[in-house]
Amino acid sequence: MLDSFKSLVLNYSYEPLQFCSARHALIMVFGGRAEELDNSDYCVRTPSSSFAIPTVIRVLKMVHRNRKNGIAFSKKNILRRDNYTCQYCGTSNHPLTVDHIMPKSRGGKTNWTNVVVACKSCNLKKGNRTPLEIDMKLKRKPIKPDYQFVPFIIPPGPDSHLETWQKYLPKNMLAKSSSF
Ligand SMILES: [Zn+2]
Repeated sequence: MLDSFKSLVLNYSYEPLQFCSARHALIMVFGGRAEELDNSDYCVRTPSSSFAIPTVIRVLKMVHRNRKNGIAFSKKNILRRDNYTCQYCGTSNHPLTVDHIMPKSRGGKTNWTNVVVACKSCNLKKGNRTPLEIDMKLKRKPIKPDYQFVPFIIPPGPDSHLETWQKYLPKNMLAKSSSF
């Protein structure tokens, strides 16, 4: 239950940062790293007590995001950019990894334009070759996303949670997530 519910995380400045699992939110609150701003009717019960699942928390220390240099290069962000989809075969079911288009061993750089998501089997198949050498085609040319690209997707949840989140999220963010 704690893993299926999401909590909205606000920065110290009340600016929305991201969603995390309710479990993580509780850990942050109990650990004194965040305060609970809103909670839901849904409760977690332990043998001795029960407490409401937080829907919105606020970190107690300002999180600085590097807007100037854009989105940080990381495996997580590569996965986001490529929509958790292998860029060679298009699967999103296999265990996914990241692949250097020009292999690292041959001087390929670890950056936005040389690293893509690949499933383990495509990654293995490709090995130490370039896509051209083994006749594998990339679904699309990898680019460095601009900061705006970072998806702020409102996760599915009970209506009551959405209503709560609406109070804390700018209107233009909500407009983008029509598929709720
Ligand atoms: Zn693949």
